[in-house]
Amino acid sequence: MMELKIQLIPTGEIILPPGKNGESYCHNCAKAVVNDGVRAMMESALTARDRVGVQDFVLLENHTSEVAFIENLRKRFKENLIYTYIGSVLVSVNPYKDLEIYTKQHMERYRGVNFYEVSPHIYAISDNAYRSMRTERRDQCILISGESGAGKTEASKKVLQYYAVTCPASGHVETVKDRLLQSNPVLEAFGNAKTLRNDNSSRFGKYMDIQFDFKGAPVGGHIINYLLEKSRVVHQSHGERNFHIFYQLIEGGEEDLLRRLGLERTPQQYQYLVKGQCPKVSSINDRNEWKVVRKALTVIGFSDDEVEELLNIIASVLHLGNVQFGGEDGGNAYITTDTQIKYLARLLNVDGSVLREALTHKKIIAKGEELMSPLNQEQAGAARDALSKAVYGRTFTWLVNKINASLAFKVSLYYHISNMAGSFELQFCINYCNEKLQQLFIELTLKSEQEEYEAEGITWEPVQYFNNKIICDLVEEKFKGIISILDEECLRPGDASDLTFLEKLEKTLGGHAHFVTHKLADGKTRKMMGREDFRMIHYAGEVNYNVNGFLDKNNDLLFRNLKEVMCLSENKILTQCFDREELTDKKRPETAATQFKNSLAKLMEILMSKEPSYVRCIKPNDAKQAGRFDEVLIRHQVKYLGLMENLRVRRAGFAYRRRYEIFLQRYKSLCPDTWPSWDGRLVDGVSTLVKHLGYKPEEYKLGRSKIFIRFPKTLFATEDALET
Ligand code: ATP
Ligand code: MG
Repeated sequence: MMELKIQLIPTGEIILPPGKNGESYCHNCAKAVVNDGVRAMMESALTARDRVGVQDFVLLENHTSEVAFIENLRKRFKENLIYTYIGSVLVSVNPYKDLEIYTKQHMERYRGVNFYEVSPHIYAISDNAYRSMRTERRDQCILISGESGAGKTEASKKVLQYYAVTCPASGHVETVKDRLLQSNPVLEAFGNAKTLRNDNSSRFGKYMDIQFDFKGAPVGGHIINYLLEKSRVVHQSHGERNFHIFYQLIEGGEEDLLRRLGLERTPQQYQYLVKGQCPKVSSINDRNEWKVVRKALTVIGFSDDEVEELLNIIASVLHLGNVQFGGEDGGNAYITTDTQIKYLARLLNVDGSVLREALTHKKIIAKGEELMSPLNQEQAGAARDALSKAVYGRTFTWLVNKINASLAFKVSLYYHISNMAGSFELQFCINYCNEKLQQLFIELTLKSEQEEYEAEGITWEPVQYFNNKIICDLVEEKFKGIISILDEECLRPGDASDLTFLEKLEKTLGGHAHFVTHKLADGKTRKMMGREDFRMIHYAGEVNYNVNGFLDKNNDLLFRNLKEVMCLSENKILTQCFDREELTDKKRPETAATQFKNSLAKLMEILMSKEPSYVRCIKPNDAKQAGRFDEVLIRHQVKYLGLMENLRVRRAGFAYRRRYEIFLQRYKSLCPDTWPSWDGRLVDGVSTLVKHLGYKPEEYKLGRSKIFIRFPKTLFATEDALET
């Protein structure tokens, strides 16, 4: 008779022959091993634990040690094991190379299996969220975070692909799947760009819902975008590019299309494309991408006319960038480039002379009368750039809305799975967002721990943790938060400037535990700190912010007469982007920071109402290279992603918990009373088993359906006992 024994191999990657029941996987982060006759394999498996580390950080012996944490990551990274859990949180390290772990077979392997039965994978997270949604009927969300280039967008694509392949389909659902998948290349063309940190960096925040019907088939979707980095349209830092779509159109657009748009096939010719001096990127094939994007637009449901109008706008932005002004020494600006205006008039469907005037004048209202006041060269350049940013930004929003309309669900019964990824215009906004996410993360982790203990009838022991609410308040509190003060300065007529904003911050927030400027309480000056800087002590560390440009970026103003011209445009997309009502609306538009604050609040509300899963992405090096593990960089990310804190909370009570039947199944061979089968109640079986193993009362607790084990060493001792 073959005996079935099970060995915990915290690698999960060693393939062993299936057992007699056809069972090839065991429980808790490991695969089942058929012991009989495979001693050699067992031995290699044992050394494997040392070689490739544990696949769940809660099983680390010294869970408070950052060194041990990073060592575990390193071991796994070296073996191409890019995924590791902290409980149910997935930590992912960008491999910067294609791994053979995203095949259909892999998808099948993760379908419908217990989270812990297979090695950590983004598919396990996806499947788990999907199944919780179906069985518990609770809305789910998958939160993906990490710095630029860490792999957030790639992770979200894997989630989508997993659902597209594994979810059931029927009728029009096929089109929904296609559209969901095809929305990615379109959004990336218009919202992603090559930066120093990432060749395909998302320059907008994205939050995506997928809606499923009661049978579990995806029937719709919805995307919310926020804070597109509009400044990129008119300016790029050295080595960076504008949004992909411009290069795709120029490189890939058909001859007659380019002729109609008045474009040449030379990116160097366009002011908006030359700032970064980087028209070509080796990892990007703009011409091929153009084909992909063009086709995707059709699949999503854009008509040929709509595509034409859209491209008219994209071409217009390039022409706008080439509009030059004359007028020296503060004299009145005049336009020196005529062809551009002609193209613009045609493409945007506006009157050329009106546009010409609007680009060089500002409309002011004095004593009820409208006057056109001339702009100087510099002001005219700024007005032109503001127009380009507004046109591109609003067209992007239109595009997202259009995709949403094409994904609108037709069935009333649905659940959500959402995912969020993003990077934003201002460093300040990114860090504020991170504070909010951290707050949510800790709150929800604690909450779900507490709920599980309650459900299992186990006493909850309070966990001490740093509550970063004080930092969130510092940013967002009414009247005395940084955003309030910034808005106040933006609204104040007269001498308001970035420096008066800083002064006001000092006056209101000086002495706050998380806010520092160069001024000391006794009137002296703090050394090593710029006079235009303020410093915030974030939960992840200190960051200096230079106030230069804060007011402008927050205001994001477009002159009224330029807005009027756009409102008169007969381009069908622009008529939807520039609403005529805006002109009669006396209310000031919301500032950028307030818009961001509000959308963040809305997002938090949505996330709070769902059950979250987390993917924490880590970037292994700044060189975008495979196989390089830069410890300093990684330690920094472990810190600001709050991973140690997360592990601490997860380990505060019990390191390990498993359902009785799974625990019993795995270890029953260790106790004569439970082997080969246990007839009584599961809890009694487990109780008999652990008593036989000599577990001390303080080492474990028995809940309603699960056993909770406090320390990994208890579990490992039991595991080791299996071998002998
Ligand atoms: P940003 O915040 O700038 O948008 P991001 O976190 O979305 O960054 P990605 O664009 O997802 O980063 O990843 C950057 C690059 O890293 C990808 O273009 C790809 O080359 C590589 N990469 C990321 N994840 C994986 C993966 N799982 N397997 C292979 N390569 C990957
Ligand atoms: Mg991205």
